[in-house]
Amino acid sequence: MRLLSLAVLFVLAATGAAWLFARSTNPAIAVAPPAETSSPIETLTAMTKAAAKTEGPRYSKSGYDITPLSEKQIDQLAQKLAPAERDVILAKGTERAFCGTLVDNHKEGVYVCHLCGLPLFSSQNKFDSGTGWPSFFQPVDKDHIAYHSDTSYGMERIEILCARCTAHLGHVFEDGPKPTGLRYCVNSVSLEFVEKKDGKLDPPAASRPIATETAYFAGGCFWGTEDLFQQVPGVIDAVSGYMGGNVKNPNYKQVCYTDTEHAETVRIVFDPARVTYKELLAKFFKFHDPTQLDRQGPDHGRQYRSAIFASDEKQLAEAKAFIAEQSQKPKYQNRKIVTTIQLAQKPGETGGFWEAEEYHQDYHAKHGGHCAIPSSGDE
Ligand SMILES: [Zn+2]
Repeated sequence: MRLLSLAVLFVLAATGAAWLFARSTNPAIAVAPPAETSSPIETLTAMTKAAAKTEGPRYSKSGYDITPLSEKQIDQLAQKLAPAERDVILAKGTERAFCGTLVDNHKEGVYVCHLCGLPLFSSQNKFDSGTGWPSFFQPVDKDHIAYHSDTSYGMERIEILCARCTAHLGHVFEDGPKPTGLRYCVNSVSLEFVEKKDGKLDPPAASRPIATETAYFAGGCFWGTEDLFQQVPGVIDAVSGYMGGNVKNPNYKQVCYTDTEHAETVRIVFDPARVTYKELLAKFFKFHDPTQLDRQGPDHGRQYRSAIFASDEKQLAEAKAFIAEQSQKPKYQNRKIVTTIQLAQKPGETGGFWEAEEYHQDYHAKHGGHCAIPSSGDE
């Protein structure tokens, strides 16, 4: 997992915006804003600028695909809008105070983007500001809102937009209640309300998190494997850990110096709509040498063995087919593939995945540098 940089943490600590402390599991979001920013809003605006520079798919901490939509996709979505909605959402207008339908809505539920459906605010964070517009003290996920400086009408304000479709939502001000001190002032027409019924939310497809899949690969020292997979577009999160051993919740010392049989393994959560399991298998073979038995480069021992732990029967069949296919290649005729394949035990079971200690996570991100991708192997 990638942590927000120390610079961000310092700034956030200084501003007291404790709700922003959550880890980003998304490399596209884990970008440091300039350290000289001082207020929560300045920090958020800087994060918007940094995120805009990143390419490829982006995911929010709460598991949504927040890759910016293209102009064409936005035009298609905008066809459903009524003229009054277009005036606000596309032309950045403002509805008249006390005229919106959601100002006095006190029902339990989630407020999603009227244009693209991304969840933006929760009823739990709504408050009566007395301004005449729906007001919230924080978004449902900090990654779902974009912040832009707005100097129209001779004022200096911070405009808030949907991070996915750029729909205009309103503005954010620093006169809100605790714990953030922020007031997100939003136009009702920019939102759609999805009510919780019988304690359950049943939002439309566009308002649901993506259906992720999980893969487990052991290919030598997990620092490098984690770092390389984290860079693959479609990979949402990569975490270092131990798997395939004979004791529960092992620590690094046990794995290194006692016979626990654990392999240093990386758990990869991915978006199957962006990258397939077979493509990840190909990357895995590119990222390590599957012909080295119980070692990888200079690292010797069972913990460095090459292994695939399949999450289900489908992955198991795909992994077996992939290795059978690779074994036919000339490069593996004299140097046999030794990668083992087995069904993964469930998390919490002895042989299942156990997260490694915090100091092993994001090792390369924390200590600088990235692993070079081995020149051997192809995709
Ligand atoms: Zn949107």
